[in-house]
Amino acid sequence: MTTRRIIDLLRNGQPNETVIVKGWVRTKREQKEFTFLEVNDGSSMAGLQVVVNQDVPGYAETMKRVNTGASVEVDGMLVESPAKGQRIELRASSITVYGEADPETYPLQKKRHSFEFLRTIGHLRSRTNTLGAVFRVRNAAATAIHQFFQERGFLWVHTPIISASDCEGAGEMFTVTGFDLKRVPLTENQAVDFSKDFFGRQSYLTVSGQLEAEIMAMAFSNVYTFGPTFRAENSNTSRHLAEFWMVEPEMAFCDLEGDMDLAEAFLKHIFKQVLESCPEDMEFFNQRIDNSVLATANNIIDNEFARVTYTEAIAILEKSGKTFEYPYQWGSDLQSEHERYLAEEYFKKPTIVTDYPAQIKAFYMRLNDDEKTVRAMDILAPKIGEIIGGSQREERLDVLEKRIQAQGLDPAPYWWYLDLRRFGTVPHAGFGLGFERLVQFMTGMGNIRDVIPFPRAPLEVEF
Ligand code: ATP
Ligand code: MN
Repeated sequence: MTTRRIIDLLRNGQPNETVIVKGWVRTKREQKEFTFLEVNDGSSMAGLQVVVNQDVPGYAETMKRVNTGASVEVDGMLVESPAKGQRIELRASSITVYGEADPETYPLQKKRHSFEFLRTIGHLRSRTNTLGAVFRVRNAAATAIHQFFQERGFLWVHTPIISASDCEGAGEMFTVTGFDLKRVPLTENQAVDFSKDFFGRQSYLTVSGQLEAEIMAMAFSNVYTFGPTFRAENSNTSRHLAEFWMVEPEMAFCDLEGDMDLAEAFLKHIFKQVLESCPEDMEFFNQRIDNSVLATANNIIDNEFARVTYTEAIAILEKSGKTFEYPYQWGSDLQSEHERYLAEEYFKKPTIVTDYPAQIKAFYMRLNDDEKTVRAMDILAPKIGEIIGGSQREERLDVLEKRIQAQGLDPAPYWWYLDLRRFGTVPHAGFGLGFERLVQFMTGMGNIRDVIPFPRAPLEVEF
């Protein structure tokens, strides 16, 4: 007989079926003549109630070894459950203990633990209800993303993790080196001599796969990346990680309108799929983490996103009469509080802001005819702020060269990027979605460290 997943039994199991389940004991309640166990195998929020009668072979001995956290195999028969809230339970005919968990030292006893505490036991926290639900939703969202693009004929391209270029021009990058750090070669000017390093020049963990995705879009028309990216930003916020996953579609023969339409359809698709495949987990988030999670999801699915230009957004902020912590004026970047005001209070739904001032956006964004703004778009989400950043790319060689210069960048390393504008250039556009921001947004989780299994942030690399 094969082992059955608990989610399958809870949904489809019928009385009188004999089954085997394997999992970890969440709770144990001893009665006079029998013991209740709740066994969870990670397949669902709810565990399976197991009833172990004292006539089960080795009952007393085994029950001593079975405590919260122990791993077990239970063989038995499904029966209708007399208890409220569950259709079936498992009457055990035998129990095998794989590994015990000492009640004196196992940290996850049945009680509420803070997320901060759970981060200190990153090797165990996935066994809790909340983290379990987060990682199932994360998996469902990732699956929905691939499904969305694959159905539309996008090619999934694997862009490199080690890169020599700084896509954002932001400079917040981790250097990758093969140097013996005790003997780093220096140049005459006492600078590090990267020409002697592994790659013959300074290299970094990538901050984005966009530039490489553009290369691939110029061959396959529609492509996307979905992989890890890195930022050495020493900002300890609840929305920034040093290592996070990014989704970056790139479309040839596409302008900013097409880009926004795709991004909106994309978010709607993911929310729909996750609500469909993880209803219990989403219900849990709504009840226990943030009671607007389901309303927000339905808001996304049912409404058209608001679309405003940056210039209009500034006017809205001016008219709001609110005093913000950070000042703003035309030409300054929107801070999180401004973004949240727009999405949360003013439009009350996801809001796409377009046509930002050129000087605050990356060099590759297409310059508008006013020569002051670029064809950029950010999607701002209620509670989170920026969740997607995208743009139509500058496809005109002469304009792109000028923009690189204007931003004080050295054009030399971008020779191949400029070549794409020399050989068969086309209008193209794309966007980047921070995957963890999306999962945060879907689940209502307050801290981004709790939506990735093993968070990497300043001073945080233990597990
Ligand atoms: P922010 O202003 O929030 O720092 P950004 O402007 O640096 O974002 P981009 O460079 O446009 O962000 O990156 C694309 C997307 O990646 C963002 O829209 C966001 O969803 C996500 N993102 C950016 N930085 C981080 C980070 N440190 N941790 C997690 N996600 C991030
Ligand atoms: Mn940033």
